[in-house]
Amino acid sequence: MNLHSENFPQRPAWTEIDLGKLRRNLQLVRADLPKHVRLMAVVKDEAYGHGALDVARVAVEEGAWGFGLSTLEEAMHLREGGITAPLLLLGERQEAELEWCVAHDLTVCVNEPHAVHKLAKLATNFGKKVPVHLKIHTGMSRYGVRWDEALPLIEKILAEKSLSLEGVMTHFSQSDETDKTFANLQFSRFQEILTALEQRKVPVKLRHACNSGGFLDLPQAHLDMVRTGILLYGVFPSQVCRQIPGIEPVMSVKAKIAAIQKLKPGEVVGYGMRYTAKSERRIAILPIGYGDGFPRVRNEGSALIHGQRAPLVGGIAMDALMVDITDIPQAQMWDEAVLMGKQGGDEITVRDIAKLKNSVTYDVLTNWRLRLRRKSVNGNKTETRISRIGTNSAETEPIRANS
Ligand SMILES: *Cc1c(COP(=O)(O)O)cnc(C)c1O
Repeated sequence: MNLHSENFPQRPAWTEIDLGKLRRNLQLVRADLPKHVRLMAVVKDEAYGHGALDVARVAVEEGAWGFGLSTLEEAMHLREGGITAPLLLLGERQEAELEWCVAHDLTVCVNEPHAVHKLAKLATNFGKKVPVHLKIHTGMSRYGVRWDEALPLIEKILAEKSLSLEGVMTHFSQSDETDKTFANLQFSRFQEILTALEQRKVPVKLRHACNSGGFLDLPQAHLDMVRTGILLYGVFPSQVCRQIPGIEPVMSVKAKIAAIQKLKPGEVVGYGMRYTAKSERRIAILPIGYGDGFPRVRNEGSALIHGQRAPLVGGIAMDALMVDITDIPQAQMWDEAVLMGKQGGDEITVRDIAKLKNSVTYDVLTNWRLRLRRKSVNGNKTETRISRIGTNSAETEPIRANS
């Protein structure tokens, strides 16, 4: 028997990533987008917790032009995993990172003259003509050069023979709310720059502004490319934005019942004795807790077991939470429970968990801990692959489409 660590049985708690649903979401987004508009899949922070390499492989097959990332390490992970598509680093680079970016063909946003100059020198040294994107801040006040100070920087980029201005971009601070006043103001500031570029006959291949919210609700701002993140993972950026039928969440969180306790009236559950049984109760212990990223709740939330809601009782612990299964008599040891996702006809949504956490869906997706291994599945196929701490999925075979 092989008792090496790479073969040990998986924990009975995990996140499940349905790559078939991801593929479907990509197809639906593509179909919704005018043919000439390119798709950048934003896969920063491990593709919002879904596994960046798995997501990137599927997205390449579904026609994504390239990928948006946040850190150098994230981009190198994709390059080393064999992704050759353009990789755009969305934030600001430290000077020391630029050489890596040029060497590995990672596209950077340049936002100030020093970086332009430094990058141009590196490009010359490497004998490369390096594409850059200029990030223009049009009111969000995060990264980028102010819209009313952008033209001199554009001149500087154009003057560098070893650089080419491939893209000009901006980012909306509010694109998924009903009130689009500020988004429209931002877009008009961006358009002033685009008009100035046209007047100077500066060709820019990729003008882009839209995140998921902008893609859904600001079709006039699609330009040459949209940068969608959360929507690809099946979560709408808000409840008031346009909904595309058929888009489905890609991630679920599951655990198996690891103990069952019978309570008599007056007995209590968990740390702090936050729950007292009023009558005889049957309680299932799920081996997942706040140490896995579940919100630290008390007597709030639920799990789906046999398609029924089992309410959470007591306070959640680091590694365990307790749910009341009195009304689900068929529930047995090691039965599967869904903490986030669908079971039977019911669903616990990412938004439901966000409410428990007093936060946003983005935060929920990205904050499941990796000690909950990611199990990739493909639609209803049983084929699975499990990510392990300290390794990446590049070392295993990609999962094929089931369609
Ligand atoms: C994260 C990010 C996106 C994607 O946003 P979603 O709302 O997830 O679609 C797009 N552009 C930039 C600059 C980003 O940082």
